[in-house]
Amino acid sequence: MSSEPSIFERIMAGDIPSEMVHEDDHAIVIQDINPQAPIHLLIIPRIKIPRLADAEVQHQAVLGHLMLLAGQMAEKMGCADAFRIVINNGVEAGQTVFHLHLHLLAQKRFDEGALASPF
Ligand code: AMP
Repeated sequence: MSSEPSIFERIMAGDIPSEMVHEDDHAIVIQDINPQAPIHLLIIPRIKIPRLADAEVQHQAVLGHLMLLAGQMAEKMGCADAFRIVINNGVEAGQTVFHLHLHLLAQKRFDEGALASPF
């Protein structure tokens, strides 16, 4: 895996602009630059874990933080009753940025595929 700073690290460093929704000591939340739904946020840990499959026991607290943040961001965006969290792991699953991130998607029907939306 590349040791180059990920695009998200460059955003955190202020080298690349972004629409920041939230930041704290452990994570940032930004608007996705190419939204797939009316609400599409990226929840990104400050620590670089390339893929979810690379996470280790030492990351347990930050992984929990990301999940709690997802709920809080959904509340903030007014979509706490209907949203989806997606993590792409690996190129063949659609991962393009190798710095773990959660996609928070809402206000769209998710009809396609095996994970068809219940709403
Ligand atoms: P993934 O394909 O799961 O790795 O998701 C990467 C996401 O990062 C995609 O949805 C991109 O649209 C998004 N993305 C890439 N560059 C930027 C950027 N500079 N600012 C905001 N989102 C970005």
